Amino acid sequence: MTDERCELLIVGGGYTGLWAALQGKEKCPDLDIILIEATDVGDGASGRNGGFFSNSIAHGETNATFHFPGEIDRLVDLGNENLQQILDSLVRYDIDAGFEETGELSVTVYPEQNEGMDEWVDAQREKGQDFVWFDREAMQEEIHSPTYCGGLWDRRGRNGLVDPTALCWGLKRAILSLGVRVFEGTPLLSMRIEGDGMKVECPKGTVRCDRVLLGTNAFRNPVAKARRAVIPVWDYAVATEPLTEAQRESIGWKRRQGLTQNVNMFHYYRQTQDNRITWGGGPSVCYYYGSRTDASVADPPDRFERLSRDFFDTFPQLEGIRFSHRWGGIIASTTRFCLTPGTAFGGRVAWSIGYTGHGVSASRVGARIGLELLGYEPTDLVEMQLVRKPSMAWPPEPLRWLGVTMTRSELARADRNGGRRGPWLALLDRFNLGFAC
Ligand SMILES: Cc1cc2nc3c(=O)[nH]c(=O)nc-3n(C[C@H](O)[C@H](O)[C@H](O)COP(=O)(O)OP(=O)(O)OC[C@H]3O[C@@H](n4cnc5c(N)ncnc54)[C@H](O)[C@@H]3O)c2cc1C
Repeated sequence: MTDERCELLIVGGGYTGLWAALQGKEKCPDLDIILIEATDVGDGASGRNGGFFSNSIAHGETNATFHFPGEIDRLVDLGNENLQQILDSLVRYDIDAGFEETGELSVTVYPEQNEGMDEWVDAQREKGQDFVWFDREAMQEEIHSPTYCGGLWDRRGRNGLVDPTALCWGLKRAILSLGVRVFEGTPLLSMRIEGDGMKVECPKGTVRCDRVLLGTNAFRNPVAKARRAVIPVWDYAVATEPLTEAQRESIGWKRRQGLTQNVNMFHYYRQTQDNRITWGGGPSVCYYYGSRTDASVADPPDRFERLSRDFFDTFPQLEGIRFSHRWGGIIASTTRFCLTPGTAFGGRVAWSIGYTGHGVSASRVGARIGLELLGYEPTDLVEMQLVRKPSMAWPPEPLRWLGVTMTRSELARADRNGGRRGPWLALLDRFNLGFAC
């Protein structure tokens, strides 16, 4: 890239940036768009996630109701529409993202967690909500792990699993076919107002543009206000080699649901198209002092060791299977645990960041909000509290590290104590702040 000019510059080649480019072209086919990505498309969280594909855009109904009172019905509709629109786009642009409509199954690991679940699920089903409850016996029948006490299978909407990287690469192909210019290996270094637009400096040239949409998520944001809204939380994962027929038989799990554990520091895991299991999260999730996102914390052996131990506790019958892949990725956490948009430079620059652990589908809504905030065919979406209500900033260091580390260790302690929460978590719960990601 040398010196370029465009109407809309998108920064970041993850889902937010890619969906912004796609929707920008769909709204305004003549819009001249450049997308710059510091490394490679999909190198951030978008190419490293669990692929849990959900209709929730504000991190679940409890979180949404707490932060955006009165908006839950609209958020649910928006989430369902968004999922359907993603699936329609996959068909329209011939993207094979390995979508499997499996729903999500949350397993209980203490017997007390099963109390009242039968009745709760019956009541939900009467309201038309598609939940299935497995008691211990039924759960063991469904998936064979000595750690499971029960399980709640959420089959609402079209929730399921996607192949995260295939989705990134498919979206990249789609936007290139629509005429978006993509420059990889091109970080934004700085930006400033020039005339009615913006001038952006990159290592090998500049981009002059009317508007900038930042999809940089957990990475260092060039706008200070946006920087204070998110912290980078590291999450690590491993993938096994493909399971043999006998190994697959030994675990059951024929319906291939995305699995999570009903604990604070939960693992999330799934089967891939080539019959591996990917296994991430749990107590290895952490925040490093000073909001570090550098490569030196990307591959910590002790955290992978822990992941592997937890895996074999869950599936001891797979003892001996090897992990062929391991990786770390950065989650952008906000104090409201869901996407946080904003604008700067007199409305010339907008961002949508901070999806916490729920960005695979929510990022498409984030991208749409970013475009609308920049003036591209705005709708009443931008009047919602989700967009207008400011997110509380994270405190500066060392308070930030102390607060996050203490919360994380209290969450882990509660998990060891059968879910009983101490005074620190009880205090945070009052502000809906007592969870991990
Ligand atoms: C391990 C892990 C597991 C997860 N699992 C799930 C899951 O199962 N389900 C779910 O819904 N969510 C999950 N998430 C969250 C989800 O992946 C993210 O919310 C989502 O991918 C965010 O997309 P994004 O485009 O906003 O950010 P990213 O994918 O992080 O993209 C940001 C991009 O911006 C680029 N960039 C940064 N700074 C600059 C700059 N100055 N110039 C140019 N480019 C720049 C980066 O290189 C990066 O490619 C997970 C996240 C992680 C890390």
